Amino acid sequence: MFLYLGNDFTTTANGAVVKFVQCDQCGHEYAYELSRSVQGRAFSVVGLHNREAADRSSSKAQNRLQELLKRACDLVPCPQCGWYQEPMVARAKRRRLRWMRELGRGVGFFGLSILFWGPLVYFGFDRMTPGIKLLLGFGTACGAAIISAALLGIRHAIISGFTPNDEPLDQRIALARSRAVSKEEYLKSAGSHSGFAF
Ligand SMILES: [Zn+2]
Repeated sequence: MFLYLGNDFTTTANGAVVKFVQCDQCGHEYAYELSRSVQGRAFSVVGLHNREAADRSSSKAQNRLQELLKRACDLVPCPQCGWYQEPMVARAKRRRLRWMRELGRGVGFFGLSILFWGPLVYFGFDRMTPGIKLLLGFGTACGAAIISAALLGIRHAIISGFTPNDEPLDQRIALARSRAVSKEEYLKSAGSHSGFAF
């Protein structure tokens, strides 16, 4: 059976800004272009307010985009000394070993759900003695808790010692020069034409 609930509207907003950065390490001021693409969604119940939903999805996407362009940063080191700035280091840490964080959370959630659903399942397996059921239930939940804590703990230990500033200097400089120019150079070129040349 097909049940019509309404229309789902999705709008994609793209935008770019120039970020000006002053290097923590050498004080050099540089500029790079940051671009983002975000989606806004809105639902029109049984298609009654299609126009409003379309507008809503579009303004949601625009608001999210403006917010993101304001506070986001890309991993673009200083073109003069190759140094990644503090917010970039924080971002690189967050992105590192993300699978471990997701898996740790997933296993933890699985353990919690056993404690939650366990009592319901408990009465379902007649062939097992109550002691074995309890042992299996709590054993699995404890095992999940230990695996989850281990994954999250190991990830935390690894990323706390990690910084992208440990990458080879020539690689950092090469990346920086492919993405950034000095603020002075940027302002000079922005005077003659708008935007980045690359
Ligand atoms: Zn620098």
